[in-house]
Amino acid sequence: MIVIDGSQGEGGGQILRTSLALALVTGKRFRIERIRANREKPGLLRQHLTAVLAASEVGGAGVEGAMLGSSELTFVPRSSGRLAGGDYHFSIGTAGSTSLVLQTILPALALAENPSTVTLEGGTHNQHAPPFDFIARAFLPVINRMGAGVTAELERYGFYPAGGGCVRVSVEPAKKLARLELNERGAVRECRARAVVANLERGIAEREIAVVREKLGWSDERLHIEQVREARSPGNYVSLEIESEHVCEVFTGIGARGVMAETVAEAACDGARVYLASEAAVGEHLADQLLLPMALAGGGSFTTNNLSLHATTNIEVIKRFLDIEISVAHVANHQWQVNVG
Ligand code: ATP
Repeated sequence: MIVIDGSQGEGGGQILRTSLALALVTGKRFRIERIRANREKPGLLRQHLTAVLAASEVGGAGVEGAMLGSSELTFVPRSSGRLAGGDYHFSIGTAGSTSLVLQTILPALALAENPSTVTLEGGTHNQHAPPFDFIARAFLPVINRMGAGVTAELERYGFYPAGGGCVRVSVEPAKKLARLELNERGAVRECRARAVVANLERGIAEREIAVVREKLGWSDERLHIEQVREARSPGNYVSLEIESEHVCEVFTGIGARGVMAETVAEAACDGARVYLASEAAVGEHLADQLLLPMALAGGGSFTTNNLSLHATTNIEVIKRFLDIEISVAHVANHQWQVNVG
């Protein structure tokens, strides 16, 4: 039984999700203690509990400790073979991130015997989690280049606190994930900005787009505003997409009550500017999220402009489940080289 310390490094929910994802693929059982010990409200919140229950359902796994607030969990997958795949529906019940629940089960479904469909209900654009736009435009295209065929559609937006968003995913599995080298991003081909307001006035999005125009100098045909009327909670975000020859990156600012529109747009612009000023292929978030698929593929490499504590913690957790080398080297200012396998 692998024993994972949930307080190591970053000490957040990713340690749990990575363990679940790898347990499903490898069939290895694990116990995690001190779950999310570095967070203000430690233990399992709704999003984490839904990820545990989703993993248990797709893997037919036995679980002990799967309740709200729990700080310890034992997870016993049914078998070590490929999972069957199937049609699944998971509802978080709050604005907890649908993307993070998806990322927990996607590796196993992407390597399953049969295709799957997954419907996820909850938050689609959350602070501190991959927004749907990032999943659809940055994360999944990389997974698909590794051999899987995953598509995601946003059916309804879900914002904090009510959630109520809906994402539909279909997964065409690969026999094996192929290794991927993502060391250069190549020339920038297209840049697009989207400011989205749900049940809020258009003026907020207009102020955000003005910030993007000023800070990044993007021309008007690249700047878009979308007004959404059918969200359960009001919401707002700015999404900046930078499509280069070899990779697409997405930088996001999420609106919150009491935060000025300009601040939301600046957060997204800052992420994009730091990335564009470096020569790295992937940004901070894609970096920590590519480690697991690359490790399952048996190898790969990438450059990133920021190797976060999320990434280094994820490396430690991955090495507990897989016999694989992962090396990181700081090769230049704002540039790390990561080699897997
Ligand atoms: P907690 O830490 O409270 O348990 P959590 O379960 O939401 O929270 P973390 O361990 O913090 O999870 O992991 C968050 C994940 O979301 C990381 O993979 C991180 O890269 C990703 N992420 C955060 N912000 C963004 C963003 N703006 N774009 C893409 N991915 C993001």
